[in-house]
Amino acid sequence: AQSLPYAPVPNQRRHASKHRLFVNELSHALFEFVVQLLPTTEELVVKEDVRKLLERLIRTIEPESRLLSFGSTANGFNLRNSDMDLCCLIDSVERLSASDLVVMLGDLLERETKFHVKPLPHARIPIVKLSLDPSPGLPSGIACDIGFENRLALENTRLLMCYAMIDPTRVRTLVLFLKVWSKRRKINSPYHGTLSSYGYVLLVIYFLVHVKNPPVLPNLQQLPPVRPISKEDTHIDGHNTWFFDDIDLLCQRWRSSNTETVAELLIDFFRYYSRDFSYNTGVASIRAGMLKKESKGWQNDLSSSKFHDSRERNRFCIEDPFETDFNVARCVTREGLYQIRGEFMRASRILATRPRALVALSQLCEE
Ligand code: ATP
Ligand code: MG
Repeated sequence: AQSLPYAPVPNQRRHASKHRLFVNELSHALFEFVVQLLPTTEELVVKEDVRKLLERLIRTIEPESRLLSFGSTANGFNLRNSDMDLCCLIDSVERLSASDLVVMLGDLLERETKFHVKPLPHARIPIVKLSLDPSPGLPSGIACDIGFENRLALENTRLLMCYAMIDPTRVRTLVLFLKVWSKRRKINSPYHGTLSSYGYVLLVIYFLVHVKNPPVLPNLQQLPPVRPISKEDTHIDGHNTWFFDDIDLLCQRWRSSNTETVAELLIDFFRYYSRDFSYNTGVASIRAGMLKKESKGWQNDLSSSKFHDSRERNRFCIEDPFETDFNVARCVTREGLYQIRGEFMRASRILATRPRALVALSQLCEE
């Protein structure tokens, strides 16, 4: 039979089917890997009980208050034993300042509960840090931060949750895997100059909205609203927090034409952030795509590096979706960025050799 000029020659065909086998096996393994790291039902129940207990106690100080979860406990990106991020909203006009509340709540929790309590009233965002020692029902204990009136954090949690709902399998598997990977490879620590989990989640969303073509996710902040929106409803502290949040409606009208598997997306994610992302001049913005550091006034501050300031603010730039003058990666130092990029490259190298899926995962996440 005459073969078509563009039909793959047998050798290429074998190559292509080997690749298919590799990515299918890896996708399956990634999925299985993250499933066994999800929190147990018991853990979720205990955490919800803790939230209710804390809410009851806070109401003895501020009766009109609510205690809400944000961060991974609320956006669907939580792993087993992840910390709890809680935010206290106070619905009365006359309320105590956040730092006074932190001190009072700290005293109260110390008196009334078994938590180890550390009030930080003078932090940029005043919080009370709590922890509970491990027990049979909670083998890893609990770590929890309580902040006040952090409405932007509640909204960015909701934004990430909506992105996860659009394509639960691919988005959650990618995000959860990268969270485990970054923790095991020790590049998930803003205190040590690397990136927070929140930063990695934004990198994944940015990649799926703006880098992949066709995109895996739509840009929820740029879709046309279905009904008129008023400025009062959509602004918090001067920041526009509107986004398209009717995910049922969206899924009726929009479907991604990108059919890549989780493994293909992961391989491409590592390749993009090791080779193609412009660390020197670019800002990753899930709201607006790739921006220039210059246009945001976020050039590397060379004057501070002269004095060996290890905290150069703008080595790595990720725009917060709502607080657009805030660089989520501002904690990343020169060494931290070097480490992070080194890890993206290492991961790319491992995956390029196409090992068996389980070998790949254990090499990637080796501690
Ligand atoms: P983990 O499970 O590792 O705790 P997480 O998804 O809870 O991950 P965190 O990095 O703990 O992510 O962040 C929790 C929340 O705190 C985020 O949803 C965000 O609202 C807020 N947050 C954290 N880091 C930053 C930051 N650098 N800038 C702005 N907001 C942040
Ligand atoms: Mg958290």
